[in-house]
Amino acid sequence: VNLSSKELIAIEDQYGAHNYHPLPVVLDRGEGAFVWDVEGKKYFDFLSAYSAVNQGHSHPRIINKLVEQAKKLTLTSRAFYNSELGKYEKFLSELFGFDKVLPMNTGAEAVETAIKIARKWGYEKKGIPAGEAKIVVCSGNFHGRTTTIISFSNDDDARKNFNPYTSGFITVEYNDVESLRTAIEKDKETICGFLVEPIQGEAGVYVPDEGYLTACFEICKANNVLFIADEIQTGIARTGKMLAVDHENLKPDMLILGKAVSGGAYPVSAVLTDNEVMNVIKPGQHGSTYGGNPLACAVATEALQVVIDEELAEKAENLGKIFRAEIEKMIPEFSFLKSVRGKGLLNAVLINDTPESSTAWDLCVELMKNGLLAKPTHGNIIRFAPPLVISESDLKEAIEVLKRTFMKF
Ligand code: PLP
Repeated sequence: VNLSSKELIAIEDQYGAHNYHPLPVVLDRGEGAFVWDVEGKKYFDFLSAYSAVNQGHSHPRIINKLVEQAKKLTLTSRAFYNSELGKYEKFLSELFGFDKVLPMNTGAEAVETAIKIARKWGYEKKGIPAGEAKIVVCSGNFHGRTTTIISFSNDDDARKNFNPYTSGFITVEYNDVESLRTAIEKDKETICGFLVEPIQGEAGVYVPDEGYLTACFEICKANNVLFIADEIQTGIARTGKMLAVDHENLKPDMLILGKAVSGGAYPVSAVLTDNEVMNVIKPGQHGSTYGGNPLACAVATEALQVVIDEELAEKAENLGKIFRAEIEKMIPEFSFLKSVRGKGLLNAVLINDTPESSTAWDLCVELMKNGLLAKPTHGNIIRFAPPLVISESDLKEAIEVLKRTFMKF
């Protein structure tokens, strides 16, 4: 039986945990930058599953590879070798310039992996006394939902009543070099890593000042601290370069990838680092049943090759400039638009009210009615992040939808 959107929302509401607050739209099909609801209405997707679908919905090359590999071999566990993993690890390592990869599935798992590796490196290579390893993180961070990761969040919704928390994290101000310098210099003997998002996505697309990441990297280098870049949301061409750290020509000590590594076709994440760091992990010390499975490896290799072949980084860079310029032009016309910020096709518009007001949500509901899907974050920020395969003319049409919606609001 074909259920209506209303009926499908009602069953989710009854049988699913209420851990999300979705816009009232039920999607059934996707292609490129577009999605369709169960009634057949077409929408611009301006969220891209939180930047997991950079290559566009159901990219034919990725789906073909998924089906082809699924018919052959999907999962062996790491108790045995499989014919896809090594090739994928070589491809990924060479693409991003690291010695080795540790494959996982979700973003949070990859962040957990990086934390474990950094701590172990801290004890075994840096010589941190037993039990004292610390990792520096930033205010406003979002790195996932596990107990350890929410332990160093400063978002009350993410944290409250999930304690006791994991200890060993120090918070510094994001985009504040001196805050990091002070923290690291105070505890330089026991700090093993600095975990940072090159642009804070979930916090509302906060782009740090130019040179911030480089200055942080130099402080880390001077104090034998690993610089760990969480590029789960910013990576894979989203910000106009393959990685957001490429804007500053920076090579992190550890790189965390997820989301668009598979173009939205399969959960795939990874941690990349060089031998000196990765080799602290020995058999039995870390892993995952699905991590590095042949289906994931085949899909991710194809999805990354699509990013390269279709020059999606360059596309994101150019289209992002158009998007921000067009929004800038609208700001003086509409009193509720405060500013636009972002890099490449990771952008956000700040709505001129407080996080408690419903203006941004109401705007997103109107945009939905007019055929464009975007989601508010932190009350008064709307993120606009379409698949990078969107054509220039479709982007311009989407901008017209925004303008029409703003005019009636
Ligand atoms: N790190 C960053 C920067 C993210 O944006 C996200 C997800 O939004 C995560 C980690 C967590 O990824 P996942 O939801 O796949 O666990």
